[in-house]
Amino acid sequence: MTHRGAHPALIDEVHWLQQVHGATVVRAGSDTRAARPADGAARTITAAFAGQGDALVSSAPAACLAVLTADCAPVALGSGEGVFAAVHAGWRGLMEGVVQEAVGAMRAMGATDVVGALGPCIHPGCYEFGEDDLARVVGRYGSGVRGGTAAGRPGLDLPATVSAALAASGAREIPGMGACTACSPGYFSHRARGDAGRQALLVWTSDGTPVG
Ligand SMILES: [Zn+2]
Repeated sequence: MTHRGAHPALIDEVHWLQQVHGATVVRAGSDTRAARPADGAARTITAAFAGQGDALVSSAPAACLAVLTADCAPVALGSGEGVFAAVHAGWRGLMEGVVQEAVGAMRAMGATDVVGALGPCIHPGCYEFGEDDLARVVGRYGSGVRGGTAAGRPGLDLPATVSAALAASGAREIPGMGACTACSPGYFSHRARGDAGRQALLVWTSDGTPVG
């Protein structure tokens, strides 16, 4: 896509993954920013395939990190050091520690105070879950992840699971979006409707310059 305006976008590349419900973190982006074009100059933003994995991490000022979800949890991570990440966190990835792996990768790149925010995902009232798998998640993250569906069936509290994973990683959780993808209007849901569409979580840094 091409951006044209008084305040050129600061992003050069949008990085994306082939997501596989694992815990692999992929580093993306160059740490050197290309010369900024003059105001009004055409500018191209390219999509860059980063490989297979479920978390992207970067410290590149011109990088934008994208994960796609439709009920799984999108998690944005940031730090004062300019290291940031985007995580696709379903229950299988959470069991493999994808959030902790992403925070660990950020720390290895110099991040200290890591903050995380959850985007729209399926909530326990809509997320019926088998008892055996639920017991595994409870075993890792505690009884707070046990939820119940509106119909009284066992459910997984995915937001609570993400909160527990953030806490386990030492990251601070900050308010995100509380919408349930299955029952809030305007979201794609794989489980509720078999939607083929996906939400995109985009994470980038700002150097304080207005973005057009
Ligand atoms: Zn719901």
